[in-house]
Amino acid sequence: NRRIVLASRPKGAPVAANFRLEEQPLPSLAAGQLLLRTVYLSLDPYMRGRMSDAPSYAAPVAIDQVMTGGAVSRVVASNDKNFKAGDWVVASSGWQDYAAIDATLVRKLEGAALKHPSLALGVLGMPGFTAYMGLLDIGQPQAGETVVVAAATGPVGSLVGQIAKLQGCKVVGIAGGAEKCRYAVEHFGFDHCVDHRDPALAQRLQEACPQGIDVYFENVGGAVFDAVLPLLNTKARVPVCGLVSQYNAEGLPQGQDRLMLLTSTILRKRLRVQGFIIFDDYGHRYGEFAKQMGEWFSADKIKFREHRIQGLENAPQSLIELLEGKNFGKVVVQIGEE
Ligand code: NDP
Repeated sequence: NRRIVLASRPKGAPVAANFRLEEQPLPSLAAGQLLLRTVYLSLDPYMRGRMSDAPSYAAPVAIDQVMTGGAVSRVVASNDKNFKAGDWVVASSGWQDYAAIDATLVRKLEGAALKHPSLALGVLGMPGFTAYMGLLDIGQPQAGETVVVAAATGPVGSLVGQIAKLQGCKVVGIAGGAEKCRYAVEHFGFDHCVDHRDPALAQRLQEACPQGIDVYFENVGGAVFDAVLPLLNTKARVPVCGLVSQYNAEGLPQGQDRLMLLTSTILRKRLRVQGFIIFDDYGHRYGEFAKQMGEWFSADKIKFREHRIQGLENAPQSLIELLEGKNFGKVVVQIGEE
C-alpha cells in the first residue's frame, strides 16, 4: 500500500520535501469497517490549511501521518452489511492506494455519479455542494442581479456561475489568464470574465458590472477583493467561501491597514458578509443538493471541466500547482483502475 504522508510543515508555498511517499502493509479490517481501493483522489485548496498547525476550523494533519483527502474508491472487502465488494463509494480516505475506514463515514455513489465516478469529487460532490449552498442560501441571488465569482473555471466558481445563470442573474467571472476567461464565457456560459492578472482589473471589473455587484461569492481574497469592494451595491451579499490567494501567506499582508475601509463599507452599504464551512454548516442539507444537482445534470444544464493527473506520486506537485492557479478545472488524481 503506497501512501503520501506529511513530512514537514511548509513555510509559505509547499515544496516537494514537505511530502514523503511510503510503502506500508495493507491495513487490517476492524468490525464495521470497509477496505477501499482508491481510484480517484481529489486535490483541493483546503489541503494547504491541513498542512499547517495555525488555528483553523479543522485539526491539522500530524507529521508522518497520511495526507487528508476525499476520494472515490471501490470497496474491496466489507465488514458492514450495507456494502459489498465492488461498490463505488466516496470517503475522506486520504492520499493512499488502500484505506480501512468505518462504513458510517462512507457514502455510496448513486445516480449520474455511477456513470462518471470522478464527478463525485467535483460538480456532483463537495465542491458542487459548496457552490450550491453558498450561493443560494447565503448569496440569495435574485433574477436580474449581478453575481461575481473568482476562480471562475474551478469546480466551485464554475458551478456558482452556472447556478446563478439558472436563477436568471447576470454573471461575471474573474480568472487567471485569457484562456480561462474565454472558457468561462464560451463553455460555462458566464456573461463576462475578467483576468485578475490585468493591471487594470478594477477598471475592467467596473466595465463588466455597470449596475454594480449584488452577490460576490468570495473564493480568493487579496487583490480581487480590493477590486470588488467599491463595486458592491447596497444590501449586497458576500458568501465567504475561501481565500485561496492567501493560503500560502506567512502572516498578514504588509502595507496600509484597510480594516476600517472594510467595516465602514459593510456599515454604509449594509452588506451581509458570511463565512461558511460546507459540511459543518450544511451537512444536513446534502440530500437537497444531490437531488437538485442530479436533475440539472441529467437535463444537461451543468457543464464541468476536469484536470486529470495520473499517479499518486504526482499528487504533491499537483497540489503545489493548484495553489499557484496552474490547474484548469477540478483536479483529480487517478491512482487506480476503474
Ligand atoms: P480551484 O480549482 O478553483 O483552484 C483554486 C483557483 O484559485 C486557482 O485555479 C486559481 O484560479 C485561483 N487562484 C489561486 N491563487 C489566486 C490568486 N492569487 N488570485 C486570484 N485567484 C487565485 O478551487 P476550488 O473550486 O476547489 O475552490 C475554490 C475556493 O473555494 C477555494 O478558496 C477553496 O478553499 C474554497 N472552498 C471552500 C469550502 C468551504 O466549505 N468553505 C469548500 C470547498 C472549497 P485562476 O487561475 O482562475 O485565478
